[in-house]
Amino acid sequence: MVRTALLAACCAAALGVTAYAADMPAAADQAALEKSFDANLNPKELDGWMKLMASEPNHVGSPHDKQNAEWVLQKFKEFGWDAHIETFQVLYPTPISETVELVGGKKPFKATMQERPIPGDTSSRSKEYALPGYLAYQGDGDVTAPMVYVNYGMQDDYKALERMGVSVKGKIVIARYGAGWRGLKPLLAQMHGAVGCIIYSDPANDGYATGASYPDGPARPPQGIQRGSVEDMTLYPGDPLTPGVGATADAKRLTREESKVILKIPALPISYADATVLLKAMTGRVVPGNWRGALPITYRVGPSDLKLHLAVKSDWSLKPIYDVVAKLPGSEYPDQWVMRGNHRDGWVYGASDPLSGQVAMLAEAKSMGEMVKAGWKPKRTIVYLSWDGEEPGLLGSTEWAEEHAAELKKKAIIYINSDNNSRGYFFAGGSHDLQHFVNQVADGITDPETHVSIAERHRAGTRAQALEPSAREEVKAMAKIDADPKKDFQLFALGSGSDYSTYIEHLGLPALDIGFGGEGDGGGGDYHSRYDTYEHHSRFDDPGFVYDTLLAKTAGHMVLTLANTELPVVQAGDFADTMALYLGEVKKLADHRREAAEIQAKDIADHVFQDTYDPTMTNGMPTALKPVPKFDFAPMDNAVKQLQKSAKAYDDAFAADAAKLSPEARAKLWAAIQPLDQTLAPENVGLPGGRGWYKNLVYAPGRWTGYGAKTLPGIREAIEDERFDDATKYIGATADALNAYSAQLDKATAVLKGG
Ligand SMILES: [Zn+2]
Repeated sequence: MVRTALLAACCAAALGVTAYAADMPAAADQAALEKSFDANLNPKELDGWMKLMASEPNHVGSPHDKQNAEWVLQKFKEFGWDAHIETFQVLYPTPISETVELVGGKKPFKATMQERPIPGDTSSRSKEYALPGYLAYQGDGDVTAPMVYVNYGMQDDYKALERMGVSVKGKIVIARYGAGWRGLKPLLAQMHGAVGCIIYSDPANDGYATGASYPDGPARPPQGIQRGSVEDMTLYPGDPLTPGVGATADAKRLTREESKVILKIPALPISYADATVLLKAMTGRVVPGNWRGALPITYRVGPSDLKLHLAVKSDWSLKPIYDVVAKLPGSEYPDQWVMRGNHRDGWVYGASDPLSGQVAMLAEAKSMGEMVKAGWKPKRTIVYLSWDGEEPGLLGSTEWAEEHAAELKKKAIIYINSDNNSRGYFFAGGSHDLQHFVNQVADGITDPETHVSIAERHRAGTRAQALEPSAREEVKAMAKIDADPKKDFQLFALGSGSDYSTYIEHLGLPALDIGFGGEGDGGGGDYHSRYDTYEHHSRFDDPGFVYDTLLAKTAGHMVLTLANTELPVVQAGDFADTMALYLGEVKKLADHRREAAEIQAKDIADHVFQDTYDPTMTNGMPTALKPVPKFDFAPMDNAVKQLQKSAKAYDDAFAADAAKLSPEARAKLWAAIQPLDQTLAPENVGLPGGRGWYKNLVYAPGRWTGYGAKTLPGIREAIEDERFDDATKYIGATADALNAYSAQLDKATAVLKGG
């Protein structure tokens, strides 16, 4: 899958940079280690590996998916790792037949569900088992109905439709990609009574409006289709039939009907070449200005006079998925695990998504293997994970985490994720107590094009984003912090869309998601299509495999540091300051909502016509807003205050005393720090509204954003969704979690002070 944006909805304040020499392995040793690691990285090898792995379609259930798993296993063994394949049995629907056709028109029209090969791209040549345009976990069905164009098909669009007096009940909606996660489009359509959903890639988003079309340039060609998952991952990701437990052969399973994450209506993605025909056939009112895409037509809302026939039939049997698990055993602390993963399955050839990250991971594994052969021993156990089934719903990573949850909670000290990678800016999101660590690593790596550090280039990138006319307030705030060289640059908060989700959000483990991008992918014009090939990646996304190798270098340095450091790398002040910032945001949100409700109530009383509200604004709802109570934020105020105090005490004690600790005291310190982040994900709370699988009360994907993060989600989303009792409840629960974090940190401080 892909990240939504370099800067997800978040921002955070930072402490000044503290001198942290003591938390790293002896600097000279670490530098020597990194030097030999770097010397083993060879871009030509990454090139060759990708070419091989992307030579055939590799989606779940395809023969090449299994071959790739076996090949990766073989590679790890060759590199000297202790490796095996772990298999799970997951519900994975494979399409049998698909129909999108106009009924009753002058000329018959049927959409093309399989993309044509592209001249000059030998990979894209026809393969009979290449997956056609498809949305995993849509609900099979056969419907014929008029069409309604719903813009992006997000919540605000339905509010606008209501104001236009257009209903989607009994209709098939056509939504364009963009503005929010794909899976919410058919889900919202279903909730509003639609009987089917078509999603297409408008050229405004990643086609000719963004650059030359493939093969002349990287942008999406007319026949390109974006596949994807529409599993309702905002409830839980992974196998739809086994929430919370590993999908082993004998696991207890829900039935397909019982699973809440599978859609009830049929849905398919189509190309803009085909969408043009459907949208041209549309009658009814012309769309508002901001609903127009870049097609040379008059966009109309409908409903259409002509009907659309949409039919999907899938094979709903269980399929095996293959996770490759590889370990280098730790010599001194074998029960502390440094984990690093990237998925291996794609929608078709999957060169950029995910093999660009997968080959980086292989390069790291090979280099570390060579170092072991030359006599090096990691102090901690390094665990590398090549995930299967990420695309349909983070299947491989989620099932493995659920199966091994108890062991991971005891042993994992970090999970470092990557996914598709390309030329450009370094990005990093994750647990904010790791922010300083990420900055230290990024400061030490040079960007091959600009010759400044990747941290410096990242900061420049944030500044440039903040100057865009459309830049959000959070981005501007973030750029201001990133512009200060005395401060660490900010990690973005993790939502969903890649394999870190279960680790941070379900198990509460410290996690990072890293990579490069922003300059090489032409707006993602090959994303989830048959044209995400070796040819496309090596021509446009990362010529010379320079940035894929740089990802290997960056992740490798992180892993080497964590595998060897005598002391934890946590800087708690960063986390405390970030929580203070998030609390400020939710308080402001509550105030804005209260004000909006009051103004609206007054306007209604004064008979001010409701059309004066901007339909794109949250307060532009045609129905009256609920009056917003004054929330008692005292538990959160106190918890954040205590957190800041505990964090300062820990960071100060660490700077003063950590280097002097005896081996016994160091062991005690690790025992206090290892479970620290898990306090944020208490076992018996979870998010409300059927989202109890999401246990982390600080980081979660938004219910109505999908991939986009919502921080302090129990409180923030309750205010947004007018569930005011929940807001009060989660002010208490979130404060409890932060207090537990502070108490755990105090234990670590006591160890540092000789307790
Ligand atoms: Zn991916």
